[in-house]
Amino acid sequence: MVVSPMQQQAYQPIWQLSQGQLNLLTSCPRKFQHRYLDQIDPSLGLETQSHQRLGTQFHQLMQQQALGLEIQPLIAAHPPIQTWFDSFAQFPPPMIRGEHLSEYHRWGWLEGYLLVAIYDLLILNPEQAQVLDWKSYARPRQDIELRQNWQTRLYLYLLAETSDYAPEQISMTYWFAEAPELGRANTLTFAYDQTLHAQTHQELRGWLSQLRDWCQAYARGEDFPQVPLTAQQCYTAWGCCPFVNRCQREQQQTTKLARQVAWADIEAIAELALDPEVNPMGEAQEPLL
Ligand code: SF4
Repeated sequence: MVVSPMQQQAYQPIWQLSQGQLNLLTSCPRKFQHRYLDQIDPSLGLETQSHQRLGTQFHQLMQQQALGLEIQPLIAAHPPIQTWFDSFAQFPPPMIRGEHLSEYHRWGWLEGYLLVAIYDLLILNPEQAQVLDWKSYARPRQDIELRQNWQTRLYLYLLAETSDYAPEQISMTYWFAEAPELGRANTLTFAYDQTLHAQTHQELRGWLSQLRDWCQAYARGEDFPQVPLTAQQCYTAWGCCPFVNRCQREQQQTTKLARQVAWADIEAIAELALDPEVNPMGEAQEPLL
């Protein structure tokens, strides 16, 4: 049975999902519960916010530059951002020709949930569409990490679902600020095709269906599932999950390293706010293209 967003609203505390929320949900459902249903934000007051703030400012300045606004005085006041802009000027990502759309929002309903993407830059021409995303950190060692990340998968999926482009006409390129000496190695481009699109569609449906069940159980007082300890997500070589105490998964680790919160968690948790103009009670809004 197809349930309308209005009907879902009665018992569905979460109705809008971004890539960061999907990453959290699929890495550990209990972590998703702590952050979005219990509404605990472990990123508050952490050192990592400084780099994150710079990353947000970099995105804002890139958007302002795309709009033709004067940004040089603002860049000069923040040396790391100046370095990133210099790096971008020296080693820009490969870009197709076409119309540039900065900070472009795209959304669509699936299984009663509104899936939302915010593209740093979207370039369109009659034959191709390219999504670009700026990262204020270095390129991951394993490309597969980013290929499997929900940012890549959701951003490509939503564009294919809400436009006339075939999946094969769409690609996504990441540009990494922290590797200027590597030249073109500071970019990573993922192609897309019908097989990947069908896989993403099936997986999304499965996770959204699970999420609905977990939310209903949560309303009855049940917690979302935890990942098993053997999955090694509560404690990793880089730090620990910010919720180990709430999950009663503390370990006798007192090293500074073990007390740090995993950066990936913070990045997913402290994602930019979604578009406030998206109406939770409305029908799917078809973006213009
Ligand atoms: S401590 Fe472990 S089980 Fe609890 S939210 Fe974190 S990763 Fe999940």
